[in-house]
Amino acid sequence: MKFKLAQRTQKLLPSPTLTLNARIKQMQAQGQDIINLTAGELDFPTPKNVCAAAKKAIDEDFTKYTASGGTTELKKAIVAKFKKDNQLNYTVEQVMASDGAKQALFNAFFTLTEPGAEVIMASPCWGTYVEQIKLSGAKPVMIKLKPPFNLQAKQIQTKINKRTRVILLNYPANPTGATISLTELKKIAELAVENKIWVIADEVYEKLTFKLENFISIASLNSKIFKQTITINGLSKAQAMTGWRIGYAAGPKNIIQQMEKIQAQITSNPCSITQKAAIQGLKKGQAFQKKAQINLKKRRDYLVSELSQIKQLSFSEPQGGFYFWVEIKPRYKKSQIDSIKWCQKLLKKTGVAVIPAEAFYAQGGFRMSFAANLNDLKKAMRRIKSFLDE
Ligand code: PLP
Repeated sequence: MKFKLAQRTQKLLPSPTLTLNARIKQMQAQGQDIINLTAGELDFPTPKNVCAAAKKAIDEDFTKYTASGGTTELKKAIVAKFKKDNQLNYTVEQVMASDGAKQALFNAFFTLTEPGAEVIMASPCWGTYVEQIKLSGAKPVMIKLKPPFNLQAKQIQTKINKRTRVILLNYPANPTGATISLTELKKIAELAVENKIWVIADEVYEKLTFKLENFISIASLNSKIFKQTITINGLSKAQAMTGWRIGYAAGPKNIIQQMEKIQAQITSNPCSITQKAAIQGLKKGQAFQKKAQINLKKRRDYLVSELSQIKQLSFSEPQGGFYFWVEIKPRYKKSQIDSIKWCQKLLKKTGVAVIPAEAFYAQGGFRMSFAANLNDLKKAMRRIKSFLDE
């Protein structure tokens, strides 16, 4: 007799980035010179004021359980952030903190969907969405975007049916860096309201746009869409706090209550020390964000000029985030590039690590992070060019 395992976890895909990173570490341990452009995190240290707040929390023994959805002090800081940055007027009961935006997203999918429900989303996409939706028993319904990857309402409209429960938006997007225009956001909001469909808006790259003042939260467009949007954000990308695990969600009170209930039974509160650090990051994060933006823009501009000269590759200029989505032009018209093999070969021959398109539900290209210093990016470009010229 065989021991049985749950189907749902057997069907779950491992994180391709983590698998790739294990291979990279192994190669580095063997002494190979690797330029790792797979990172989903900024290469800057967490701001000092944020770290100081965490140290103070430890010294003051702020090290016990808190309310599952975060302390009132943190919730107030989240409310103030939404008001100041996004013109969103949430109450303390309408927000919660989580162990990263990832957990906030899971809480939202688990609350809003169930077997038989459909979630409309765009690809190329961050793979975690697909796995979380599947874990909730629902079905991801993909809109396959083409360059420049700006999602349009009419594409969503063709996928709506009576099973549609959620429209998932992520802008600026991982992995393409594409955003959604205000005109399209308004149309998407109209569609969602007309058809009574929830919107989950993942705004974690909000602070890393190259035109910061232009970011618009869909929930801020009008009072109707406000009532049916769950806004997700976090400090991983905005304050270089990936390891601290802190994200947050906002939405209607009854939905946030359900999401807190799930969290209370799964992980309880996000780390108490991190919560104190996050308050600093939320209140005093602007200087760091400005610095990060200037730095990232320099790297982005460098890569735009370099990549434009490589005839074997095409790319879309990222409008936010810190990734380039690069497509590999096949040598022969009808051939199809196997990007997994291509990226493996690139890594083996040049030591440059990028993530193949397949990890993002796409083909024929790769995601290249520019959260790496300019010298490494220059070295990587030289190596990629000579690899392609071989
Ligand atoms: N949303 C998107 C689009 C991401 O790319 C990531 C991380 O890569 C997250 C959410 C998760 O962020 P966190 O570290 O807050 O869980």
